[in-house]
Amino acid sequence: MASLGIPQNTIAVLQKYQFRFQKRFGQNFLIDPHVLSKIIGAAGVTKEDFVLEIGPGIGTMTQYLCEHAREVVAVEIDRNLEPVLAETLGAYDNVTVIWEDVLKLDLARLVEEKNAGRPVKVVANLPYYITTPIIIGLFESHMPVESITVMVQKEVADRMQAGPGTKDYGALSLAVQYYAVPEIMANVPPNCFMPRPKVGSTVIRLTGYQEPPVRTKDEKLMFRVIRASFNQRRKTLANGLGNAPGIALSKEAVQECIGELGVSPTVRGEALSLEQFAALSDLIWEKQRSAAAGKEPE
Ligand code: SAM
Repeated sequence: MASLGIPQNTIAVLQKYQFRFQKRFGQNFLIDPHVLSKIIGAAGVTKEDFVLEIGPGIGTMTQYLCEHAREVVAVEIDRNLEPVLAETLGAYDNVTVIWEDVLKLDLARLVEEKNAGRPVKVVANLPYYITTPIIIGLFESHMPVESITVMVQKEVADRMQAGPGTKDYGALSLAVQYYAVPEIMANVPPNCFMPRPKVGSTVIRLTGYQEPPVRTKDEKLMFRVIRASFNQRRKTLANGLGNAPGIALSKEAVQECIGELGVSPTVRGEALSLEQFAALSDLIWEKQRSAAAGKEPE
């Protein structure tokens, strides 16, 4: 099977199977061999590796992965691609395609079954309409992930990498940076895809931490605090967090926690670092516990 990373070969396969692109599945297939090599290089895929690919499409990147990795598992939602992948991946015996919605799959179990729970590399040209739930889902599944190297919308890559005090900084930046070190590897223009997306794209690599960079008493509470802080960006932190969903404290009690954190009472969420969010959520945790027990913390 000739390499699909060349536009003529992709067009030939699409015509042979009379494939119709489904916008609702975010189908923009890669047609540039340089970009494909760059992604595989950025992911550092070797014959030791077990790779999870999300959305193989017609198998363009999957072929590259099969050549470089020990084993590849690819998850694809669109069953119309079944005859296509049967042909384009027919020459490889180190690939399995799972026909499922990746958001509904038990990824930790899959990795346990297929790779005896050892760390995997995730490599994908993601469907952009579900980038955030896929990335957060991968981290929250607590499956062992060595790295995630993915093509995403440029604007989303900028948000993943942003630090405090910048316009792109928000809940996604903090979620990603709690689990991994993000690095932008390449910017990719629309003409490298078929059909061309309306937005610019970026390859980003997220290298997972062994241990999170900050410790917190209650991870779920910290993420509730983060979400509530950015839900209403224009509000001060105390206004945004007081009586917010899953935070059982009044605005005044939150105000006290902010004072104990040692930052200005009018601070906004976008000014706080991950360390400060962890510390603030621990103060909120203590105060909630004391309030529930009916006493002031010492
Ligand atoms: N990897 C191919 C490439 O680079 O040419 C295709 C990438 S395309 C941007 C995204 C792929 O993800 C499509 O094949 C699409 O059908 C698939 N996809 C969309 N939603 C999905 C989901 N929920 N679960 C699994 N695959 C999905």
